[in-house]
Amino acid sequence: MSNSTRCAACRYLRRRCTEDCVLAPYFPSTHPDRFACVHRIFGASNVCRMLQLVPVEQRGQAADSIAYEAYWRMRDPVYGCVGSSRGCSRRYRRPRGSSPRPGPWWP
Ligand SMILES: [Zn+2]
Repeated sequence: MSNSTRCAACRYLRRRCTEDCVLAPYFPSTHPDRFACVHRIFGASNVCRMLQLVPVEQRGQAADSIAYEAYWRMRDPVYGCVGSSRGCSRRYRRPRGSSPRPGPWWP
């Protein structure tokens, strides 16, 4: 891959993007903010390590999950993506006594 077609990760990190770049398929140059957010929360080396632990056919889903978590952690540093689900549960709260809650940690 030439420098003009570096992935968003390599462009952000200002390095050459090689043919075997682990991040290139999941962080295309068309979405630079996605990697910037992921890098800020998890760090590039940790993201590489996490993706390499996952089978290749599931890496796309793992990258989406990592990006989702990073996005929400940036928006809500305290609760992260749990904060988004807490907001949903408040909006769609079950009527009292309808069924038990899944656990004491649930809002
Ligand atoms: Zn790359």
